Amino acid sequence: MRFRMEGPTVITLDDKRTVYGPGQLTWQDGEIVSLGPENSDPAPVDQLIRVGDAYLLPGLLNGHNHAAMTLLRGVADDSPLFEWLHDHIFPLEAKLTAEDVYTGTLLACAEMIHTGTVGFADMYFHAEQVARAVEQAGLRAWIARGITGDAQSGQPRLDESLEFATEWRGHPRITPMLGPHAPYTVSFDLLQRVAAAAQECDLGIHIHLAESPQEMAELAQRQTTPFALAHRAGLFSSRILIAHGTHVSASDVDYLVGMRGGIITCPVSNAKLGNGILPYSMLREAGITVGLGTDGPASTNSLDMFLEMKAMAWLQKLAGRHPETFRAEEALIAATTATASVLGHAGGQLAVGRPADFIVVGRRSAHLTPEHDAVANLVYAAQGKDVRYTVVDGHILMAEGIITAFDEQAVILEAESRAKMLTS
Ligand SMILES: [Zn+2]
Repeated sequence: MRFRMEGPTVITLDDKRTVYGPGQLTWQDGEIVSLGPENSDPAPVDQLIRVGDAYLLPGLLNGHNHAAMTLLRGVADDSPLFEWLHDHIFPLEAKLTAEDVYTGTLLACAEMIHTGTVGFADMYFHAEQVARAVEQAGLRAWIARGITGDAQSGQPRLDESLEFATEWRGHPRITPMLGPHAPYTVSFDLLQRVAAAAQECDLGIHIHLAESPQEMAELAQRQTTPFALAHRAGLFSSRILIAHGTHVSASDVDYLVGMRGGIITCPVSNAKLGNGILPYSMLREAGITVGLGTDGPASTNSLDMFLEMKAMAWLQKLAGRHPETFRAEEALIAATTATASVLGHAGGQLAVGRPADFIVVGRRSAHLTPEHDAVANLVYAAQGKDVRYTVVDGHILMAEGIITAFDEQAVILEAESRAKMLTS
């Protein structure tokens, strides 16, 4: 089947930042086959969708998530990270069943599809249930089973991760990764084993590093930093997705130069937990790729990447004490091409031969009028609920605000009752 969307302003985010307004995009078998000004492709299609008053742009990529934590949204908000984790979240997570993780992830997928996210990197347990929900929802995902413990207690979790990777490797939309949680929850010898397994099995690594001041203080007592420790364990020998990296110092940058992967900043989570602001300008100058993510919905409360783009811009401008420290386009790039680059994925920009992963954002609304600058409108004024279409791998997962892949209302009811059972 060949599809075409005709009429919206097409923002490609390609290297020349080409914009076609009004434009068209044609796709077949999950790939973009032509794009350009309106009526630029005379070849017939099986389905033509006319969309006026809208922007068509690459789908957003959420580079760091714990999707099933939707069921814990709003639990013990406003407490510090370590207290929140150890006293509230870990005891509840111990009660989560496989079906809870499946339902929580599907609920997250509904929220992501509505707000224009086409793929996400996830770290959680019951990874096979995360994959089951993602497969049903039609999104793309980079899934890691969270690994914690020491060489003895953590080995079964590493074994499970490798079994999961063997089972899902080669799936068109799901990429397995290894997910050692953080240097404060994984012993050094287990980190070394994960690094060796990642190299042997050619898997990427997803890890939290330098998220909070407490973590930095703990590692300082061991005369090291999270980056030095990760380097010593061998984690940088594979593709690595570093969630947060908030407290990266100038001397740590040496570990990052030339790495495969990059940092995923989660500004809303970092602000809400009072953890700090990523030194983005320093990383930009060093040529380190910085993508964007929400973190889990229990710490961020929202999976809306439009909110995340605003937060990234606000915090960077605040940190730099100057509005020119950070431009709107940088937030949009972080949420698309930069996150794709961290993941080693061909998405994040629109061009012939690239994946047909895109969204359509309606612009005929009071808060997007007038349009002096499309990118500024998308980053500073648009909201996730403005998304009208979400297309992944050529499949239309949402059309005019209606999710087509699954019964969203049934998932909401199921999630509601499971969340109540969990906390009762
Ligand atoms: Zn996280």
